[in-house]
Amino acid sequence: MLPETNDCKQEAGVFIPVIDRNRCEGKSDCVRVCPYSVFSVGTLPTDQRAGLSFIGKLKGAAHQWQQALLVNPDACHACGLCVKSCPEHAITLAQDDSPPPASVLAIRPARWPRVEPT
Ligand code: SF4
Repeated sequence: MLPETNDCKQEAGVFIPVIDRNRCEGKSDCVRVCPYSVFSVGTLPTDQRAGLSFIGKLKGAAHQWQQALLVNPDACHACGLCVKSCPEHAITLAQDDSPPPASVLAIRPARWPRVEPT
């Protein structure tokens, strides 16, 4: 069961934010609200753009491929602030060992993707 918003009682590493690449527009709200510096906004690597929907590719190009990147995912305490703050409803929380949804483009197949900002 996912935690309630603002409930920061989870230890780090139990839940992890999942970013829907077809929705994210890199608006940085998650960067501003996260108390644990889980996010950065940077350029989505080209190898992660291929699996986007047609609309997702249009949106990505329109925003110069700026998206929220997980730079410190293991620090997530599942407070839910990022979920609540995202104007595109692009962030959900999932247990770290659950398989990523199809809309998440994994570069770390064994775990959730971590993307270094460029
Ligand atoms: S749930 Fe809280 S700790 Fe986890 S990434 Fe979102 S804002 Fe940061």
